[in-house]
Amino acid sequence: MTDLFDSFHRRIDYIRISVTDRCNLRCAYCTAESMPRLPHDEILSYEEIRRVVQAAVGLGVGRIRLTGGEPLVRPDLSTLVELLTQIEGIDDIALTTNAILLGRYAAELKAVGLKRVNISLDTFKADKFKQITGSDKLENVLNGIETAMQVGLNPLKINTVVLKGFNDDELVDFARMSVDEGWHVRFIEHMPLVTTGAPNTQLVAVEDMMAIIQRSLGELKPSLPTSGNGPAKYYQLSGAKGTIGFIGPVTDCFCSECNRFRLTADGRMRPCLLEDSEIDLKGALRMGASSQELRELMQQAAALKKDRHHLGEEFVPNKRQMWQIGG
Ligand code: SAM
Repeated sequence: MTDLFDSFHRRIDYIRISVTDRCNLRCAYCTAESMPRLPHDEILSYEEIRRVVQAAVGLGVGRIRLTGGEPLVRPDLSTLVELLTQIEGIDDIALTTNAILLGRYAAELKAVGLKRVNISLDTFKADKFKQITGSDKLENVLNGIETAMQVGLNPLKINTVVLKGFNDDELVDFARMSVDEGWHVRFIEHMPLVTTGAPNTQLVAVEDMMAIIQRSLGELKPSLPTSGNGPAKYYQLSGAKGTIGFIGPVTDCFCSECNRFRLTADGRMRPCLLEDSEIDLKGALRMGASSQELRELMQQAAALKKDRHHLGEEFVPNKRQMWQIGG
């Protein structure tokens, strides 16, 4: 087996797969005014996704994350999870979700082999939740978190995008959950993708997030990652079972450690979230490509991977927004 490397000697062993471009929320920083939807027949079937993953295993890919849009709005997601867990060589399947539907599906997903979930939650306040997501279903999210913990989807991580003047006053409340409830909370810098080219006035830098938390809750001690080998830097508060991670795509470019590809719902392999180049796998799949041919296309995608993103500089990606890629 040949492992998959890009031109900068980074090994790709992880694919984030967007299973749909539909979402049941309208988060202000993620969605656009106009959101044209893919026709259903443009979206990869579960069998097509299985074929891509099966081929990728032959290049040393062993970890998969399902995302969206909102992955739980796609019918029978557990069927896909089951198909993927049966592939020898895949040893970690995770899900990123807004948890609106997680209470309903957590047990079923766990039963077919889902290992863990990341849940996106930016506020504990119902009025702000409505303001940022357009939905009044905060209770569903909190129930989803509870249910996921009960059924053993571990470690469960909460992802919070921090927005200046919107939820930076809740940083301490979220951080405290790592002590009170053993949550693994990760704070993410806002990436200016929707407001293409405009100054990122909503940015709270990781350094400032850490200062706010330490002022109220004491020292953040460096800690080991809870799972995976993603871009977060982890810390713990004294007496906490949970961890606090910080992801700084804007102020702390972590591209040199990038280990991933992204597969869009319409079957494009994207070497970088923040760069527009893509390789069409769907066309090849539907023309009857073999696993070896799919692997060759993935190698072409690896060759397109740039050394680093240029967010906030001369170039911003504009072909797809976050809801179309999966974060
Ligand atoms: N619907 C699922 C969810 O909410 O987790 C999966 C897709 S969503 C695009 C994945 C993640 O991207 C979410 O945690 C979301 O907060 C994050 N995200 C979207 N737009 C972002 C932005 N402009 N900057 C930082 N994170 C963003």
